[in-house]
Amino acid sequence: MPELPEVETTLRGIESHILNKKITSVIVRQPSLRWPVPARQLKEKLVNRTFSGIKRRGKYLILESSQEFLIIHLGMSGSLRIAQGKDLKKHDHIDIVFEDKSILRYCDPRRFGCFLWTDNIDNHFLLENLGPEPLGNSFNGEYLFNLSRKRKVPIKNFIMNSKNVVGVGNIYANEALFKSKIRPTRQAGKVPLGKYEVLSREIIAILKKSIDQGGTTLRDFVGSDNKPGYFKQQLEVYGRQGEECKICSSILKNVTIGQRSSVYCPKCQK
Ligand SMILES: [Zn+2]
Repeated sequence: MPELPEVETTLRGIESHILNKKITSVIVRQPSLRWPVPARQLKEKLVNRTFSGIKRRGKYLILESSQEFLIIHLGMSGSLRIAQGKDLKKHDHIDIVFEDKSILRYCDPRRFGCFLWTDNIDNHFLLENLGPEPLGNSFNGEYLFNLSRKRKVPIKNFIMNSKNVVGVGNIYANEALFKSKIRPTRQAGKVPLGKYEVLSREIIAILKKSIDQGGTTLRDFVGSDNKPGYFKQQLEVYGRQGEECKICSSILKNVTIGQRSSVYCPKCQK
């Protein structure tokens, strides 16, 4: 599933190819994504206009055009790439074509993504309840600590809830909790400030590392026959249940929290 680092890498990969170029057509082959794609509106709004900016909020990409906004989410399996027309694949649902013939092409086999238009980005239902960016200035241990007081949910759910902080997907939650030596089932409200300081730093570190690794895949966004290759990094616990902890050699355990697999070391994580 595309996570925050993949979305950030997508932004960096497509940005220079789509900004300030006149849009000549919008082609919607499949409008049934998570919400219906407003195909007619997209054509009316975008043809003969340009995108003046692109930014990321959580896992949403927001493309600005004349103070209005295209909101894109990659869902479970989506990707965006810069195509040249010929390499059309089965699940390539949307094309935005520019005057230089380059194409911003959206592919989404499972169709859980979204492609929506709005003139009001501040109160949009998909964005208005999002918590702070983990790589932004307001995210730190003190923020998590204060927000978590009296919360009885497992800390893993707490950090994966986008109302609390955006972009901490399952893999990153598993890994950051291991590095912080916090058991994923521990009640969020009982974790002390010092632990939240370590945890916030580990969340930031793993996201930054993933984004840095993504930088090496940027060429895949242009003219490739395949969708961009999402990157795997060295994982300490995720997907390693039953194997040995790399620190203490205990056998890693798996517990399901909120229907998500949570692998932890019973000795290192308290
Ligand atoms: Zn261990």
